[in-house]
Amino acid sequence: MKAKLLVLIVLLLAPLAVLHAADALAPKPNILVILADDLGYADVGFNGCRDIPTPNLDTLAKSGVRCTSGYVTHPFCSPTRAGLLTGRYQQRFGHENNPAWLPESTVAGLPVSQTTLPQVLKSAGYVTGCVGKWHLGAHPQFHPNRRGFDEYFGLLGGGHVYLPGAKGSGEYQIPMDRNGKSEPLTEYLTTVLGREGSSFITRHKGQPWFLYLAFNAPHTPLQVTDLLMERVKHITDETRRSYAGLVVGLDDAIGVVMNALKESGQVENTLVFFFSDNGGPVSVTHSDNTPLRGAKGDVFEGGIRVPFVVSWPGRVPQGQDYAQPVISLDVFATAVALTSANVPAGHTLEGTNILPYLTGEQTGAPHDRLFWRAGGGARFAVREGDWKLIGGENGKTQLFNLAEDLGESKDLAAARPEVLARLDQAYADWNKDNVAPLFESPQANRPKAVKKARQK
Ligand code: CA
Repeated sequence: MKAKLLVLIVLLLAPLAVLHAADALAPKPNILVILADDLGYADVGFNGCRDIPTPNLDTLAKSGVRCTSGYVTHPFCSPTRAGLLTGRYQQRFGHENNPAWLPESTVAGLPVSQTTLPQVLKSAGYVTGCVGKWHLGAHPQFHPNRRGFDEYFGLLGGGHVYLPGAKGSGEYQIPMDRNGKSEPLTEYLTTVLGREGSSFITRHKGQPWFLYLAFNAPHTPLQVTDLLMERVKHITDETRRSYAGLVVGLDDAIGVVMNALKESGQVENTLVFFFSDNGGPVSVTHSDNTPLRGAKGDVFEGGIRVPFVVSWPGRVPQGQDYAQPVISLDVFATAVALTSANVPAGHTLEGTNILPYLTGEQTGAPHDRLFWRAGGGARFAVREGDWKLIGGENGKTQLFNLAEDLGESKDLAAARPEVLARLDQAYADWNKDNVAPLFESPQANRPKAVKKARQK
């Protein structure tokens, strides 16, 4: 009798054992991070945009989870990228501004003392690629190939002209870079980046890969092909029309990339993140962060809360929303959890593996608190649950309840002094581990320039 029972138990448990073995033997997933540049929260169909068609991004969102409180660690370009690629708040190591284009400077860039995500993934057997905007330093020591990427193609600075032969200043008109060698731009830039991303995906099928595909669209300059303009001609505002053309070009390119994933049979084995590096610069491009307050450069929601999607068909639910705050720091932590990659001692990750939260395996919030600091502490913010503290904007400390007031219009600092004090103390504690900015942003793209008229 006992023997029969034992056999029965073994038989019942056998499928589980097989399942676990299969899980352990499952190939390591590919990881694709697609970054947009200066894309407004409300400028994608999946966040309610009506005038700019983004069918490919909407399909991507439907194939996964739309994170409605998806954040980046900074309200402008370079610091966000430093946080994303290190998995740490970039203020820990002084990367709080945009590096100027200074090929002779060993300071203006992502400090080489910091470990990057591709370096860690390489140690776990991944082939690593970066396509697009780098903006983490111009000196050769900061080159993507020296910072963990096996392959690089793109624009090394903070932006670039989109059309071959178009006039731009500084780094906006230098040639493209392919693994340290110059190449002329011969086609519309967003199209080229989409094709290069697709090529990486197709070529590396069969080996786990990590691709960081950082489009510079829809960042200025507002340069668009006639064909793209034709598709947004219904938009009457001239500035927004050009911006919309950049967004449509971005959406097309993402369609090409997702198609490469599909055609090569890698959809089920690829975790995809999509988000923007900061909010829309409303006054500059007439981008739209509705219903959020503020724009690029601000620590109001409009500067730091961005369109954010996580997709992995078969592993992550499809067509769902996730409302708890997540942040770009979570990409690194999630990738490490999935791949069992080794992170060097001393490189303290500050994100969370968000997959169990997205699948519902784990309830509660991935983060107790999130923090932002810009201008060496001139402006800062803390989010804790529904509460958001803002320091430095308008010279005072303000408190908002985002559940009741997503537009951050009703300052509750006087009404809830105990919450204000708690969050202020939390910021002070977090800020103890930060250092002063290592370098200043060049004059031309200091956030002040985009701050003046932050709402339409
Ligand atoms: Ca940006």
